[in-house]
Amino acid sequence: MNIHEYQAKALLRSYGAPVSDGRAVMKAEDAKTAAGELDGPLWVVKAQIHAGGRGKGHFKEAEAGEKGGVRLAKSVEEAAEEAKKMLGKTLVTHQTGPAGKQVNRIYIEDGSDIERELYLALLVDRQTSRISFVCSTEGGMDIEEVAAETPEKILSFSVDPATGYQPFHGRRIAFALGLEGAQVKQCVKLMGILYTAFVEKDMEMLEINPLIVMTNGELKVLDAKLGFDGNALYRQPDVSNLRDETEEDPKELQASKYDLNYIALDGEIGCMVNGAGLAMATMDIIKLYGAEPANFLDVGGGATKEKVTEAFKIITSDPNVKGILVNIFGGIMRCDVIAEGVVAAVKEVGLKVPLVVRLEGTNVDKGKDIINNSGLDVIAADDLKDGAQKIVKAVKG
Ligand code: GDP
Ligand code: MG
Repeated sequence: MNIHEYQAKALLRSYGAPVSDGRAVMKAEDAKTAAGELDGPLWVVKAQIHAGGRGKGHFKEAEAGEKGGVRLAKSVEEAAEEAKKMLGKTLVTHQTGPAGKQVNRIYIEDGSDIERELYLALLVDRQTSRISFVCSTEGGMDIEEVAAETPEKILSFSVDPATGYQPFHGRRIAFALGLEGAQVKQCVKLMGILYTAFVEKDMEMLEINPLIVMTNGELKVLDAKLGFDGNALYRQPDVSNLRDETEEDPKELQASKYDLNYIALDGEIGCMVNGAGLAMATMDIIKLYGAEPANFLDVGGGATKEKVTEAFKIITSDPNVKGILVNIFGGIMRCDVIAEGVVAAVKEVGLKVPLVVRLEGTNVDKGKDIINNSGLDVIAADDLKDGAQKIVKAVKG
């Protein structure tokens, strides 16, 4: 789960990280008061969306010469004006895709005087099963670009969980970033703060781009992107409360309410499968026969009829879906439960696209009977290959 920059900064501030004073606003009429509560003489007005690259992004509705999603202002009035211009508009960045994201919140911040922009991230390295620090002198840039063009400018190392964070980790980062004197001490402290927050809040990712050296020599967190482990949210109620559902894919949001493992994709064939491995194999074989999956969906082992019905509804609500492949190997999941769910869902929402069903395993005969006696126009398949070929043929002709 991701949160907004202003929420991330409030969280990091509560751990003692240096961040600017700022105010979040959701209504244009609140912008002037909010900006007036900050000292100036420089204000930064920042669109809050769950995507990076805002500064270099552009608004769909932009007039010629209009700036991106991070704007500097020299007065309270100007800051309020910029906030007003951005609210409700659609910001497109290289991370949002061409559709962009609607800006519903603005963060107005006390502006900082920047000497240098640095890059810092913490993440869970799956290879080492440890938390890793990643840092670079090339802040404010796309780190992927830095990694591709000047990988020597990136330092990355993992922290042994047995010792946890140690000051030498911080010093290593400080020297890699070219910090000196009191900055080294400040860096050691800040890295410790970030590591503690990362562990305590069950984060998956923490990215500060840029971390800045100000003209007065001090370090500051100028941008912050935090991602949290969805499986740990049950023990992080404070973090869960920061969820902004308007930022999420409505289909994925609906799926999460029913505890379905669903990820929306760009293809034309909707998939309903049990088990993550079989779901991946199903996506692969759809590709093999020349089509693209519209989603990843693992209905799980203990799915009920209601859950299956909901999953089916989510798949059919996607206008890109031109055909559906149900591929179930019933182990813990029973084929008759899946069949009942599919029939119930089709009766409720109708079926406007071809449907191929492949059932195998526990109660397979019962399941097939339910489908065959339902009066639905279902194409039966015998195995994975047969199912994939039939749905691709039904969709592509
Ligand atoms: P992003 O584009 O979504 O990554 O948003 P950032 O928060 O990283 O801001 C983009 C850029 O705006 C930064 O890299 C800075 O160059 C600039 N910027 C942001 N805040 C300030 C500020 O307080 N003062 C100045 N001078 N520039 C800022
Ligand atoms: Mg940034």
